[in-house]
Order: sequence, then C-alpha cells, then structure tokens
Amino acid sequence: MIIRARTVVTMDEPPIENGAVVVSGNRIDDSPSGSSPSRAARLCRAAPAGSVVDVGKFDEVKARNAGQIVDLGEQALLPGLINAHCHLDYTCLRGKIRPQKTFADWIRAINAEKARLSPKDYLSSINEGFAEAKRFGTTTVANLTAFPNLIPQIHAPIRTCWFAELIDVRASKHANEIVDLAIESLGRAPSGPVLSVAEGGAPWGLAPHALFTASKNLFACCEEIARRENVLLTTHLAESREEMEMFRDASGALYEFLKRIGRPMDDCGNETPLGLFMGASSPRRAGCGRALPQWIIAHLNELTESDFELLEESNVKFHVVHCPRSHGYFKHSQFPFEQLHSLRFNICLGTDSLATNESLSLFAEMRAFQRSEPGISPDEILKMVTVNPAMALHQENMIGRIRPGFCADLIAIPCGRGPNLFEDIVGFDGQVDSVMVNGELQTTHPLRLNL
Ligand SMILES: [Zn+2]
Repeated sequence: MIIRARTVVTMDEPPIENGAVVVSGNRIDDSPSGSSPSRAARLCRAAPAGSVVDVGKFDEVKARNAGQIVDLGEQALLPGLINAHCHLDYTCLRGKIRPQKTFADWIRAINAEKARLSPKDYLSSINEGFAEAKRFGTTTVANLTAFPNLIPQIHAPIRTCWFAELIDVRASKHANEIVDLAIESLGRAPSGPVLSVAEGGAPWGLAPHALFTASKNLFACCEEIARRENVLLTTHLAESREEMEMFRDASGALYEFLKRIGRPMDDCGNETPLGLFMGASSPRRAGCGRALPQWIIAHLNELTESDFELLEESNVKFHVVHCPRSHGYFKHSQFPFEQLHSLRFNICLGTDSLATNESLSLFAEMRAFQRSEPGISPDEILKMVTVNPAMALHQENMIGRIRPGFCADLIAIPCGRGPNLFEDIVGFDGQVDSVMVNGELQTTHPLRLNL
C-alpha cells in the first residue's frame, strides 16, 4: 500500500512535501518476485507485513513501488504517538477525585474509589482507555497495571508494553512471590500488537510502584529479573513535596499516613528520594547497583542540589517521564526540564491516569508542556512523544519514526499551509481520523484510491 499525504513528517529529516509512505502488506508481497529490482522491492521482501518499506517524494516512491495508492489529501502523516506513562486501570475515575489538600489525602481518596471497583470494571476501564488513546493518535503505550492477571482477557488495539505495578507497603517478606506471580501473567502472550523482541528483550516490564509503597526487597527482586530477562523497569520517584519530607526529614503528611498503616519507616530521615534510589550512601559509586538504562522514572519534580550532583556524576542515565497535566492537577514543584535536559537525560511525556487528568491525548499533553516551557521548539516537543519514548522502551529501531524497516504505526492529521508545521501539529486539538497500527489502517477520512 502506498499512502500519499500533503506532508510526511518522518522525524529523521525535514518534512517531505507531497510525500508518500509504502507499507508492506499482502498486495505488495504478492507481486512476483524479481519483477522489480528496485531497492524498495528488495526491502519489501525483507520487511515483515505491517512495516514501512519506503518513504520519500510521492512521484519517486510511486516509480519505485507497485501497489494500491491511498491518498490522504491535505493531511500531515506522522509516526503514531507513544505514551510513556499511563494507568489505563483508572480510566473510569475521570473527574471522580477533586484535588486534595495533601498527597496523602489523595492516596486515601483513590483507595476509596478503587475499593468500589470489580475486576469487570477494571477490564472495561482498560478497554475504554485503549480506545480513547487510539482516538487521540497514540499507537504505543507504556501501561502500568495493578492487575496483570487481567491481561490475557484484553485485546489491545495498539502496541502495548505492559508493566506490572507492584506494591508491598508493609514490607512484605513475599517480594519474590509477588514478582513471580506478576511475571506468570505477563509472560502469557498478550493479545494485540506487541513490542519488538528483536533486541532480545521481552515486551513487558515491572513497576515497583514507588519507594514509599514498594520495599527495598521488591525493588531488588525486580532489578534481578530485569537483568536476567532484559525487561524494562519503571517507578514513580520524587513526585511530591511530601515524598521529599518523608525520606529526607522523616516528617510530613505522607510520613504520618504510611507510619500509621504499618510501613516500616527506618529508611526515612536520611536521604532524598533520588539519593535513596541511587544508593547514594552505599560505599560503591551512586547508581552502580542499578540497571539504570532499563529504568523509566516518572516525575522527578523534587530534586535538591545534592540530587543534581548525583545525576551529574552518574555516567549511565535512566529515562525520565514528565506528565504535564497530572503535574498541574497536583500543583507539584516546577519540573526541572532544563537541568535534566542539559544533563542529557532522555525526557518523554506521559498522560498518567485519568484519576488526575482529563483525557489520554498526548497532543493536549504537548500543549500543557509548551505552556510551562515556552522556549522549547515544537519539533523538540514532538520528539518527547515519538523518538524519545521509543528510546525509553528500547524500541528506537522499530517505532517513533517513519523509516524503512520500522513498524507501520502512522497517524494523519489535517495540516494547513502555514509556515510552522510543527506548531500546527502541537496545536492539533481533535480526534485523529486515520490511525494505522502495525500496517492496519483505520480511517473515517475520505480517501482517494488508486490515483
Ligand atoms: Zn503514574
């Protein structure tokens, strides 16, 4: 299939005016072998169905390739967007919890809402979340679920990296069992397009929830599995002022709340959350006990001078996810984008859950980020939902760009003829009519076929 659009944004080179993308599928695969000696045909035979075979100017692409032509008209074709942090479990909690006075109060409030939900509610919540994410042009999600046992019952319509969210707040001695149980569910082949395992990794990960809800044991257990199986890790870190108060000063509302419910608090009163995560007080070099490239760290709103020194010292970097609208809901401290960026951290955007957000639109997330960081160019912001999260998921050779050999995960949005295409893309405020995941196009946009 040859897809023509007014502009193709590959994320590799300047946007291609009157461009086209060739996607491998049956029609092209059926052409007699050897009928075209072109590079495109050779690539096509090598490319699995559902991947991009060729991209360039429409006239040139048409000359190099056979197959059905689909014209998207006055639209911009982009790589599908990647949400680096969400919890589709809580899609049904949209608008249910008003901002609370303290972070601890918010945990109480969401726990009260969660107590009312059954596994059936969670299943429909996750399915609705997938559908909404896709309507907003998201083709890959890093989704944390507290219910990995439900995964086999879900058919994900978009590419999904499932993270099992793990909690043992009262420092359970059963960290191994908790992790083993989660892996059993994650290991069963999920239904729907998954991430590539070409790099030797598995298309899933583990998410010890946070330093204040997951024991040291649980973190260590997840790290061990991640090293052995080459899977990804994610957690929430240094999100709120109360988390900083708890770990650094052994005080505050979160400290009191967790102490009351029986969490051992002997890790409090010494280090910052980041210091504790990086093992700053260990005799070894900070961070060297961690599988840092496998970690995707959500939030990092609360960092001290000593934390920045730690980050600067660490040669190996983890990946960072910022969730601008959830951040606004909680009124957290300013996210230190400039400092982290200058320390060469890979920074991505995520929506977090709808318990603290209005929608699963990454376009809205890009705009919220732009409002807080008006100096960052819109093409840099677009990278935070394409190229950067692809890297965080260790899929930088598969998704996040339009390039031969990459997955055919594409979206099309209307584009004007204004001078700043990327500004228009970030400003796009609607649902996406045409979404292709793994080479399968779903569209309500009027198409012209076989030009
Ligand atoms: Zn989260």
